[in-house]
Amino acid sequence: MAIRVHSYESLGTYDGPGIRLVVFLQGCPFRCLYCANPDTISLEGGTPTEPEEIVERALREKPFFGKKGGVTFSGGEPTVQAAGLIPAVRKLKENGINVCIDTNGGIWNKDVEELLSLSDLVLLDVKEFNPARHRKITGHDNTRTLGTAGWMEEHAKPFWLRYVLVPGLSDFEEDIRALGEHFKAYSMLQRVELLPYHTLGKHKYETLGWEYRLEGTPLNTQEQLSKAKGILEEYFSNVILN
Ligand code: SF4
Repeated sequence: MAIRVHSYESLGTYDGPGIRLVVFLQGCPFRCLYCANPDTISLEGGTPTEPEEIVERALREKPFFGKKGGVTFSGGEPTVQAAGLIPAVRKLKENGINVCIDTNGGIWNKDVEELLSLSDLVLLDVKEFNPARHRKITGHDNTRTLGTAGWMEEHAKPFWLRYVLVPGLSDFEEDIRALGEHFKAYSMLQRVELLPYHTLGKHKYETLGWEYRLEGTPLNTQEQLSKAKGILEEYFSNVILN
C-alpha cells in the first residue's frame, strides 16, 4: 500500500533522539490553529510512495544515525496512514533502525495499536489538557489523546510528551498543572518538551487561501517560557525547552 509522503528532512535533530530522517506524511484529522504544516492536513496531497522506497532512503542515511538516531514519521498525522506504515516500520526494525512516531494520539484502531507497538518511541503532542480548550485549538477534545498515553503506560511503550505554549490558548497555569498531576506518575514518560509558539508556517496559509486565525497572537516572552518550564519541572524531572 502506497504511503502519501509530503516531504523528507534529512539529519533532523528536533523530532526524537539523535540524528534522524524525518518523514512528513499527508493527512490529519485535527485543525490546530497554529499548525505550521497546514499543507499536510489534506490526505489528497503528497507523493504516493512505496514502503520500500522509504526503507531504502533510510538505509542510505543510516551511517548518519549513530547510536541514538533513526527515522521519525511525522506529519500531518502519521497514524492516518497506519496500515501503510506498518510494513515500512517492520522493515526498518529488521534493519536495526530506531523508529519514532510523532502523533497527536487522536486516532485509535487496530492498525494504530500495531504501529505504536512496533515503534521504539512515541512523541505524543498534547495540545491542551483542558478538553474545551483542546477542542478550541484542534477541533477535537483530548479524550483519545489521553487514552493513547494510557495505552503506552500500560504497554510499557516509552514516550515523550510535547506541548506547544501559545499565549492565550495553551498557557493557562491551571491546565499545565492539571497536565502535570495527570502524568506525573507515568513511568513510561521519559521527557517533556516545551515548544514555543512560532509563525514560521504562516505564509503557507496564504498559499492555500486559508485564513490564519492566530493573527495578532504574540510570540512567547522568555519569561513566559521559563515560567511554564518551571511549573512542569515541579512534576517532571526531564523538561526540555526546545
Ligand atoms: S495535529 Fe499537527 S499536523 Fe495536525 S493540524 Fe495539528 S499541528 Fe497540524
